Formats: sequence, C-alpha cells, structure tokens
Amino acid sequence: MNRDAPCQDEWSILVVEDHPATRQFMKLRLRKAGYRVMAAGDGREALEILKHHFCPLVITDWMMPEMDGLDLCRAIRQESWEGYVYIILITAKDSQEDIVRGLEAGADDYLSKPVHPAELLARLQTGRRILELERTLKERNQEIARLSITDPLTGIYNRRYLNDTLTVEVRRALRYKRPLGLLLCDLDHFKRINDTYGHNVGDLVLKEFAGWLQGSIRGGIDWLARYGGEEFVLVLPETDLAGSFDLAERLRRLVAEKVIATPAGDITITASFGIASFTPGGPENHPAPETLLNEADQFMYQAKKSGRNRVVGPTGNQ
Ligand code: GH3
Ligand code: MG
Ligand code: MG
Ligand code: MG
Repeated sequence: MNRDAPCQDEWSILVVEDHPATRQFMKLRLRKAGYRVMAAGDGREALEILKHHFCPLVITDWMMPEMDGLDLCRAIRQESWEGYVYIILITAKDSQEDIVRGLEAGADDYLSKPVHPAELLARLQTGRRILELERTLKERNQEIARLSITDPLTGIYNRRYLNDTLTVEVRRALRYKRPLGLLLCDLDHFKRINDTYGHNVGDLVLKEFAGWLQGSIRGGIDWLARYGGEEFVLVLPETDLAGSFDLAERLRRLVAEKVIATPAGDITITASFGIASFTPGGPENHPAPETLLNEADQFMYQAKKSGRNRVVGPTGNQ
C-alpha cells in the first residue's frame, strides 16, 4: 500500500493493480497529471484504504488475487460512501460479454489493456464531469432542504420546522422524563407600526426582534421559530415552568428597553408572552405539540387582554 499520498484533495484516485510495475507506472503518470494517487494491490486492500481515505475515483484492474476487480466493484456499490465513487475497470478481457459483466458489477467505464495514458486521462475527465454534477446536485439539495425550514425574512426556523421538531422535542422530553418549556410571543400593536411607518420598517422591526430572541437563548439547546406574522415560538428543552417564566420575563424587559433605529426614526416596541410547560408525569400527561401551542396561545391572549407587555403562564400572571 502506498502511504505517501493521503486522499484529501478533491480529485483523489485509488489505483488498484496487482502488477507492481504497472501500478507504479500508473501512479507516476496520474500524479504528473495533477491527481493525488493512492494505490492498492488487490480489492480487499482497496476497500480498506477507501474506508479511511475516501477517493471519488477508482481505477481497478480486473484480474487480481484475493479480491478481483469485479468483486471490488460490487463491494463498493453495496456500501454507502460520503459521495459517489466513479469506477473505471481495466481489463485484458474485452469480449462483449465481459464488458457487460463489468458494467453490471458496478463499473462506470472500462478500458482494455494495454492502457493508453492519454485515453485514461480523457476517461477520468468524463468521470470528473459526472462527479461534479453529483456534487452540484447535492449542494442544491442541501440548500433546498435548508430553505424549506427557514423563514426568509428573519432567517430563523419557520412553522414547518416548528411542527416537525416540536413533536421530536416532546417525544424526547417524555423518553428522558425531562421538562420542556414553550414560549409564544407576539408583538404588541404591531399593525400600528406598519400603518405609521410603512411595511419596510415593520419588516425591519421583525428582523431585529427575531435577532434579540435568537441572541438570548442557549445556542444548540433552545431554538426559535416564526409561528406567524408577528408571532414567534421559543422551544426550551430541559426547562421547567420557573425557568420558562424567568426567560420570558427577561425577554419582555429586553424588548421593552431596546430602541430600534430605522430610517423613519427610533422605534420602541413591547411584546406579550404566553407560556406552556410540560413535565412528564403520569400516563395521561402526554401532550400533542398542538396542545402546548394552544395552551401558550391562551395565556398569550390573557396577556393581551390584561394590558399587553406582560408574561402569563400556567401559575397565573407574573
Ligand atoms: P396585538 O397587540 O393585539 O397583537 O395587535 P397587533 O397589531 O400586533 O396584531 P394584529 O394581528 O392586529 O396585526 C398583526 C400585523 O402584523 C398585521 C400584519 O399586516 C402584520 N404583519 C404580519 N406579517 C408581517 C410581515 O412579514 N411584515 C410586516 N411588516 N408586517 C407583517
Ligand atoms: Mg492483474
Ligand atoms: Mg398576532
Ligand atoms: Mg401582535
């Protein structure tokens, strides 16, 4: 096994060839072409290397001791890797039947011996195009997945994420018998801000508000989602009712104290908070996520009715 070239580069190739002189020649030729090259003497060794140093390109001989090229192709296809592995099978067998066997085993392309270096490099170029396509597609999919759970205005999670992940949080709280707090907060008289200063200033206020909330919670534990227009939900794992009240009150004060500089001048706002709290107990104590949201919504309604800029939760007004 060649240990002098770890596959960290984008274009790492694993050359699998049992004939030492041929292996050495290919290594040198591919390095000269700018690839990072690792080499193995048979399929089993190749799999070992791949497990530790993923290589997106594999060039493998067919006839080898221990594990031949065909079995290596099948083994690579059976496993899941961090990306696609593009395999070129090199063979002295070039009957139609053999080519079909090679492709059916999982090879993407094949070359007949003796291999002409220029042709090998051209075939690798084809492999790289396919790998690049796969990477682009993967990145786009990740971006789509991120966007599908993000509120475009504030950059925090959206309601879809809230619906899915609150279920997971409730389940986790139940399994580990841990408390879970939920705050619903709604800006007070927000319509007036839009009416007085315009929708753009309203948007700015929403962004600022979301930023304050985001900056006030425990990163990696608590999380925040936009529930509706000017309503936000904070989910607080490992937080009991008293802890939920503390945070809500801290946030209420923070919001009331902050000043937002806008093109239309400085603006101050207030918000009302409704709390729901869940501590796993008896078998009847298994709330659906909607139950928690409804509970917090009812307390928030009370907060609005009793004058706004306040926190209301299960133990009464605070
Ligand atoms: P309350 O204190 O009772 O909550 O009064 P409110 O005015 O905050 O509540 P209301 O539900 O009457 O109005 C909410 C407003 O929020 C109305 C809507 O136009 C505005 N809104 C919702 N989404 C957005 C948004 O994305 N941007 C802006 N600028 N305004 C929004
Ligand atoms: Mg051989
Ligand atoms: Mg509202
Ligand atoms: Mg409101």
